[in-house]
Amino acid sequence: MVFRKRTERRAAERAAEKLAEQRVKLFFASDGGSQEHPICVESASLVEPRSLAMPCPRCEGALRLVSHDAVAHRGAVLRAARTACARCGAPWTVWFRIERPLPN
Ligand SMILES: [Zn+2]
Repeated sequence: MVFRKRTERRAAERAAEKLAEQRVKLFFASDGGSQEHPICVESASLVEPRSLAMPCPRCEGALRLVSHDAVAHRGAVLRAARTACARCGAPWTVWFRIERPLPN
């Protein structure tokens, strides 16, 4: 029975790892996960709350902000919210582009 329990635990761990891998892939493929697909916001003040509202892609823990940088990318200036997971410590950079609404 000990052996079986261990096998079950390993299977559960493997499944959890697979799920985490899928969430990480999804993070990099979705808006904010890369410089090519930044999240568009109207103001720089939204960068920090929007990035901190995301759960850690790996463990779903809370993110904390490490730094907030302006980064030039293909003639535009992007904002990079550099975060780290408070639970597992994994670093995540969330990308933003500031798009001010056109003045009326
Ligand atoms: Zn985490």
